[in-house]
Amino acid sequence: MYFTFFVKWVGEYEIDLTGTVKMLQKTLEIPMLDSPDSPDSPHTSEKIVRTEAEWRALLTPEQYQILREKATERAFTGVLTENHETGNYHCAGCGTLLFLSGAKFDSGCGWPSFTLPAESKAIEEHEDLSLGRRRIEVTCARCGGHLGHVFPDGPAPTGLRYCINSASLTFTKQQP
Ligand code: FE
Repeated sequence: MYFTFFVKWVGEYEIDLTGTVKMLQKTLEIPMLDSPDSPDSPHTSEKIVRTEAEWRALLTPEQYQILREKATERAFTGVLTENHETGNYHCAGCGTLLFLSGAKFDSGCGWPSFTLPAESKAIEEHEDLSLGRRRIEVTCARCGGHLGHVFPDGPAPTGLRYCINSASLTFTKQQP
């Protein structure tokens, strides 16, 4: 079963129920913050709840420490920080589409950086007062996995920098 949706300024995509997205027609690189919602959207699927033991069995130790225990990988060590391929970034915990390569930019901060999520409902934001300062943590809306933080120092048009741990993401290269 397939349905299509249109992300304004980006292009037309086809997505199946496993969350696999195929770009049908590309227009511009920068997606809008709010794309039309669909009842079949993977981001409106039921939340994924697993026990600590189940997460440990599913994830690598590094993924577990970051996604489930809110650790941060060392800067410039993540395999996706310098990834410039065209494709989609999914949650390493549950597979939900989180970011599109068109929104990725070189921030120089040492972690994969995006100007906005693939869909606003894909992520949730939480106030984080750890480390003696106020930051906004971002998590996967579906599985609750810790992704990173969002900072107000990104480029136009959003002015936001979603600073995301590479280990929280898996990358699917767009097929030519
Ligand atoms: Fe997730």
